Amino acid sequence: MPNASERVVAFLVKHKDSAFCDDCLRMRVGLARRQEAQEATRAVGSMGDFKRAILRCFECGATKGSTRVV
Ligand SMILES: [Zn+2]
Repeated sequence: MPNASERVVAFLVKHKDSAFCDDCLRMRVGLARRQEAQEATRAVGSMGDFKRAILRCFECGATKGSTRVV
């Protein structure tokens, strides 16, 4: 089973034109804990191909800390 970061990466790559906030990512990739999602998105956001910033979330429409493919 892929770990949380790998699941987030796979989801974002599949939806590479959109940004997703931590809460929506958590639900979409099925992570139980909020902290787990935040750790995963922080790790993913520090990878070269991804960007973590205050962006409009494609799913819920809120403008907050979101992650997307660059
Ligand atoms: Zn959202």
